[in-house]
Amino acid sequence: MYADRKAVLSLALAVWAVSTLPLTANDTLDLGNVRVPRGEVVQGMIEVPAAGDGVSTSIPVTVFNGAADGPVLTLVAGIHGAEYSPILAMHRVVRELDPAEMSGAVIVVHNANLPAFQRRTIYFGPHDLKNLNRSFPGKADGTVTERIAHVLTETVIKQSDYLIDIHSGDANERLGPAYTAYYAEAGSDEIRAKSRQMTLAFGLDTIVLFKGDLSKSRSRIYTSAQAVALGVPSMDVESGELGVVDDRFIDPIVSGALSVIRDLKIAPGKPAPTNTPHFIVDRARVHSEHDGVWHLAPRIQAGQYVPKGTLLGTITDYHGNPRAEIRAPASGILLIVFGTPPVNEGDNLVVVGMTDTP
Ligand SMILES: [Zn+2]
Repeated sequence: MYADRKAVLSLALAVWAVSTLPLTANDTLDLGNVRVPRGEVVQGMIEVPAAGDGVSTSIPVTVFNGAADGPVLTLVAGIHGAEYSPILAMHRVVRELDPAEMSGAVIVVHNANLPAFQRRTIYFGPHDLKNLNRSFPGKADGTVTERIAHVLTETVIKQSDYLIDIHSGDANERLGPAYTAYYAEAGSDEIRAKSRQMTLAFGLDTIVLFKGDLSKSRSRIYTSAQAVALGVPSMDVESGELGVVDDRFIDPIVSGALSVIRDLKIAPGKPAPTNTPHFIVDRARVHSEHDGVWHLAPRIQAGQYVPKGTLLGTITDYHGNPRAEIRAPASGILLIVFGTPPVNEGDNLVVVGMTDTP
């Protein structure tokens, strides 16, 4: 959604004039301090000002404002700063787009959580130890992570017609296979249908159906959940693991993002949707009850099918004495499993995806 169009619309409504003015070639996209004229591409840094904590940061973006009218798609990478495959994939996506041949706009958020990227922290921002993907819609006067969420909500999500939030396993997580996901129970029929179409167009075979109607504010703390709650069809991507930089994780993100852009007819070209989707209808998790050291069981790999009760790993204390055996909580695909030794009480060690109701 274009800010200028909104301004024009409210003005038009105020004087009881027509409320459906077409976009003109003069439409500029405004993302805070980053302004992008029609038909141009601009690289800039959206400012996140300091508050009482004295910490300021910025959000690097590349914005393509197409020469012709069309929808605004936002691609978000780096919500978690140690998830590198989305961040590196965006460097390649921006080289594939030309605003002169685009109808609509693409906002590429290269690195949503620059403090976490710079300080190499997993899950949490280094200044406030808050998880950006649990901080939406954010607060203008909150901690720096909450202020990043606020700026993203106000300047990016609210101007988007579609959104893709791109992750990988974090630097301590094995993840497989790469998958997409959308909220299958939230929003209007139209939002669900558009979100689903995005996941199909992205091209990965495994699609997780997120549960929940997002009616409670605590269910809307995730980037894409906040977007759906604001009426923006959205999806998530997970590709990559353990801080590894590898084309086998990056390539599917590049091709998937371009395929969605083409499916939405923002840029010319044929989309490459999946023809063989399979759906994860529910997920089961195991949270650690101990602080200590995680030992992945032999031959356990993310992406494999595990029958309920399969030994996935053990937790020892810091001296090496056994404290707990962790077993598959349900039969299904092992989507995520911890791959490095540190484990803390409450950590989500395991996610199993079920292809049918257990
Ligand atoms: Zn993540």
